[in-house]
Amino acid sequence: MSDKRDYYEVLGVARDVDAADLKRAYRRLAMELHPDRNPGDAAAEDKFKEASEAYQVLCEPQKRANYDRFGHAGANAGFGGAGFRDVGDIFSTFSDIFGDIFGMSGGGRRAAAHGADIETRVVLTLVEAAAGITKEIQVLRNVPCGTCEGSGAAPGSEPESCRHCGGRGQVMHSQGFLMISSTCPICRGEGRVIRDACPQCEGTGLNEEEDALQIAIPAGVEDGSTLRLMGRGEAPPQGGRPGNLYVILRVEADERFERDGADLHTEVVVSFPQLALGDRVAVSTLDGEAEIEIPAGTQPGETLALTGHGMPRLNGRGRGDVVAHLKLVVPGSLSPEEDGHLRAYAASGGQRVNPERSGFFGRKKKK
Ligand SMILES: [Zn+2]
Ligand SMILES: [Zn+2]
Repeated sequence: MSDKRDYYEVLGVARDVDAADLKRAYRRLAMELHPDRNPGDAAAEDKFKEASEAYQVLCEPQKRANYDRFGHAGANAGFGGAGFRDVGDIFSTFSDIFGDIFGMSGGGRRAAAHGADIETRVVLTLVEAAAGITKEIQVLRNVPCGTCEGSGAAPGSEPESCRHCGGRGQVMHSQGFLMISSTCPICRGEGRVIRDACPQCEGTGLNEEEDALQIAIPAGVEDGSTLRLMGRGEAPPQGGRPGNLYVILRVEADERFERDGADLHTEVVVSFPQLALGDRVAVSTLDGEAEIEIPAGTQPGETLALTGHGMPRLNGRGRGDVVAHLKLVVPGSLSPEEDGHLRAYAASGGQRVNPERSGFFGRKKKK
């Protein structure tokens, strides 16, 4: 007993280490000493077990407090036995960590209880989507119970290791030549049982809570794109991984534009003289109106681009364009004066159409 190394020393952390750094330290060691990476190396396996034991004690506030006060003898007092039977036991106890590192599902071992994913929606205007924005959302989700700190056991009591399965959550049966393992019916795979349930959460260790979250939405998102917030979903029942929060983004249509990726298409209504003689016209952009130059002799339906005035590109640099589609509108009626001018224009040769410029038979740009 007394030849055991100090747990903090084993993990190479300070005595006041916080939970996140403690987990990181253990993960790093576990990666290094993992039996799959050190096959047949008994020394590495011993160190792996030693680190796992240290982490098992230090990651639980009550055990850690006992260890700090009473040393190794205090660490597992009242917790139904210390340590791990074998390496498989370590994997199932810290399945959240090993699942992360090695993508193991812990097949056959105790299944990690995962918190459920939550899905929510956020509606944005196109202008908000272009600029990026932080939005506050309300999420109703299960969080660890504050009264029992998520253990499910009434304050002053602790969940006990399940005697039926020895805390493994799995029981073995023989069936002919086969050994079949199945979920323990007493603890339903959790490995522990609660004798005295917490009155606040009725032993689930979870309470439903309305949570306000700030969601940073990057500039340039598309309608229907989804943000994944790892670990911000439902808390798991015990010892597992929390679920994820998926935020589905709805970008409202903007009547001024039709969006195509990073480009915004818009329509500009023009008259025949504006196209024939050239003009400057106003075009809608995300930040108000901009002027664009129509060169003399522009055809209806041609497009003019305001480069870099479109949506920001999510995965690249820069922005798309605002593409102005020139739509020719012919007046429905003319004043007698306009009528006269137009007839004079027609008589002077204006009815002639140059086939090269008509746009129909393979018109070529002369530039
Ligand atoms: Zn509780
Ligand atoms: Zn059991």
